[in-house]
Amino acid sequence: MQVTFEDLNLSKQLFNAIDDLGFEKPTPIQAEAFSVVRSGKDVVGIAQTGTGKTFAYMMPILRDLKYSVQQHPRVLVLVPTRELVLQVVEEIEKLAKYITLRVEGVYGGTNINTQKRAIAQGTDVVVATPGRLYDLALSKALNLKSIQKLVIDEVDVMLDLGFRFQLLNIFEILPERRQNIMFSATMTDDVDALITDYFKSPKKVSIAVSGTPLDNIAQQCYDVPNFFTKVNLLNHLLKDKETYKKVLVFVAFKRSADLLFASLDNSYADEICVIHSNKTQNYRIRSIRQFDEGMNRILVATDVMARGLDFEEVSHVINFDTPKFPENYMHRIGRTGRAEQEGHSILFSTEKEQEHKAAIETLMDVEIPKLSLPEEVEISKQLTEDERPREDGEISKNRTKLEYVPGPAFHEKSEKNKKTNQGGSYRREIAKKYKKPKTRGDKNYNKRNKKRK
Ligand code: AMP
Repeated sequence: MQVTFEDLNLSKQLFNAIDDLGFEKPTPIQAEAFSVVRSGKDVVGIAQTGTGKTFAYMMPILRDLKYSVQQHPRVLVLVPTRELVLQVVEEIEKLAKYITLRVEGVYGGTNINTQKRAIAQGTDVVVATPGRLYDLALSKALNLKSIQKLVIDEVDVMLDLGFRFQLLNIFEILPERRQNIMFSATMTDDVDALITDYFKSPKKVSIAVSGTPLDNIAQQCYDVPNFFTKVNLLNHLLKDKETYKKVLVFVAFKRSADLLFASLDNSYADEICVIHSNKTQNYRIRSIRQFDEGMNRILVATDVMARGLDFEEVSHVINFDTPKFPENYMHRIGRTGRAEQEGHSILFSTEKEQEHKAAIETLMDVEIPKLSLPEEVEISKQLTEDERPREDGEISKNRTKLEYVPGPAFHEKSEKNKKTNQGGSYRREIAKKYKKPKTRGDKNYNKRNKKRK
């Protein structure tokens, strides 16, 4: 049955605001999250930007937020970028059209004193990037003792950008009795670890990822013993330039993205680019553009960085590793076979990854046809650090260690590094502005382009 806004038991003011916006019915995530968020339990929502997720958490929060003249905010929304702060504030203001609500957006890179003065007027809802929020709290300009609801939006991006340490600092200064609400587009090991460590038996809400792959995506898989044999297999496949015209290679971690990039055959050096959150913004923008426009045949990307990007005519998605969360596999392979064209997906799995492959097959209710390793592919004996047995006999945990290292104090990222994850159109817009490479990370790019000319 279709849920309507009438079914949601909204207040008259919220209902009228939504009516003015012309929304006909709640989006699936809004329908599902409403009562769960209202229940006061911790909530983990899996939804991407564009699904109406901001209203999904704000409708139930505003439904129960009483009018107050108190100075300190009761709701805190943390987001990874300044652009998102502005966007979320705007959405809240639309929803609160008929409510007396004080919303303040704060982010780094701008005058902190102006923000201090604004906060001193009293606020109900603060939308913030973690670094600036922490600075404001430490300087006592912002008192967080009344926070009842903490929303962390785009948590996967936040962790990928290395904000874990800042988040933990903020948790420390928030009241213990509060509701935690988290939204993420993808599940990653880091998101999973954060939930396990800091959430109290959270309720999960998600838009059911369709387990039905598009008919026009041909799927295949290989069992491959280890990372370097996977590299050999990929090198082998990529030789066939006629078939592998535009290849998106997915890896779960930035470390493996770099290692793969460095290990691939030199003969592909001119055709390959890589994107993950440790690359400079300009480098990423250019890589994406070059891949999209066909100047580079191969793009290596992490799950988080590749989301929101819409490429045309990707001939093959290669899953260099097997996603632990089957939904990520569905997101990955959806990048090929767009617009009715035939797409191809190839999955590489080690012995250890077989259980993840089984979970994917269960979700799809399809067995992925298996191919034997071509004879030309050499089986490598070399093991990565993660694959080597540790002294205590365990295989080391496949986690991005970087994110657990405290960053340089609590400062916001510099302006250029912050403007990330705004989706394809944003990147392309920026890309237009920065045609020429400008940063140190671009050395290789310069070399390559010289060669090409
Ligand atoms: P978000 O996923 O929160 O970034 O929202 C994406 C866009 O969808 C925003 O412009 C919202 O204003 C809009 N939106 C939110 N809820 C609805 C709805 N129920 N019907 C139509 N549009 C919506």
